[in-house]
Amino acid sequence: CGIVGYVGSQSALDVVLAGLRRLEYRGYDSAGVAVLADGGLASARKAGKLANLEKALAERPLPAGATGIGHTRWATHGGPTDANAHPHHDNAGRVAVVHNGIIENFAELRAELADRGHVLASETDTEVVAHLLAEEFSGCADLTEAMRLVCRRLQGAFTLVAVHADEPDVVVGARRNSPLVVGVGEGEAFLASDVAAFIEHTRSAIELGQDQVVELRRDGVSVTDFDGRPADVRTYHVDWDASA
Ligand code: GLU
Repeated sequence: CGIVGYVGSQSALDVVLAGLRRLEYRGYDSAGVAVLADGGLASARKAGKLANLEKALAERPLPAGATGIGHTRWATHGGPTDANAHPHHDNAGRVAVVHNGIIENFAELRAELADRGHVLASETDTEVVAHLLAEEFSGCADLTEAMRLVCRRLQGAFTLVAVHADEPDVVVGARRNSPLVVGVGEGEAFLASDVAAFIEHTRSAIELGQDQVVELRRDGVSVTDFDGRPADVRTYHVDWDASA
């Protein structure tokens, strides 16, 4: 339902949680975050309100990191439980992915993954993406390319945002029939399903086009289509009133 991603030098957890709070108006049934820190990936997810997630984080704090993603979920596949809350992971726990929308061909992808020995830990359509990203990453060692390869196999509507512990300074996003906006800051960059999530940090934004993938780094963003061809990118100024 709501998606936020961040790479920069602030606490990713703080930026992501503040962004998710800004998207609360959309309604949701669960929430979760993942942060890249100390060469690994740490995450927390909880059914219920953001306050539940914040309570869990207070009891079991995540290590500090400057790259992170977060999600508020409106369940479509699998009930609103902790295990179905995003982010979802691969079996090695190196990939985290959040998703808005529906992967129509998830059942067939799940069956394929199970045949190849993957153990699926949730009932969501989303989780297949984490496992597929891990597989593609093991071939190309490039999360952005892995995302392009995976997106070409997906049907349905999706906004996807992912991180990989082996690329700690990168956040990757992709979209088809579901919105995703990039925020370009000074030495930091944001991704969100709605500009409201990052408006307090930057007003310089890029609307991602249909079937595009964006790679976010501290010092800039690059956008391609699912085949890797560079896309025309137009940065615009958001003059929407943040207090509204
Ligand atoms: N289909 C996904 C799920 O049920 C994403 C739902 C959403 O857009 O929040 O987990």
